[in-house]
Amino acid sequence: MSQISDLVASRLRDIPDFPKPGVLFKDFTPLIADGPALRELVRDIAQRYAGSVDVVVGIEARGFILGAAVAYELGLGMVPVRKAGKLPGETLKESYALEYGTAEIEVHTDAFEPGQRVLVIDDVLATGGTAEATALLVERAGAQVAAIEVVLELGFLDGRSRLGDRPVNAILTV
Ligand code: AMP
Repeated sequence: MSQISDLVASRLRDIPDFPKPGVLFKDFTPLIADGPALRELVRDIAQRYAGSVDVVVGIEARGFILGAAVAYELGLGMVPVRKAGKLPGETLKESYALEYGTAEIEVHTDAFEPGQRVLVIDDVLATGGTAEATALLVERAGAQVAAIEVVLELGFLDGRSRLGDRPVNAILTV
């Protein structure tokens, strides 16, 4: 394991049966509460994409935290992908199944310039439904997914297989 994946592993907390019985919730609040760890994580992600992406997408809610920090580090803008009904402008919408429940997410129709290279950021890749729906929103809005970056991939759920040829990077896979 690399230094950054060791750091992430040491700062993630497992919460059993949240938000419902049978789900082992991977809580990354200890990681982002640690200033030096947060800085190292953000810099690790940013250096991978410097010069090769035009805009960052953060997925509600934990993707907002990292997405905004990485966008700031790269000197780029951040576009929020939000749960349905939260964005004020005209939106595109995708529905998908979650590891726990179903959801609808949206992006502003005019969020991207045509062909912009987008870095999508979230905390956890589980079944891949959220990342897939986000990628579809980005593409329907006229941009392209340059990469999907997550802190943690739950490899046994094989979310990656839903994402086709889109590059996926996980700092840590369990
Ligand atoms: P999925 O669509 O199944 O890939 O789920 C990914 C989304 O749900 C991400 O936005 C995660 O924040 C959240 N999520 C799913 N499973 C977990 C888990 N076991 N621990 C923490 N977050 C999770």
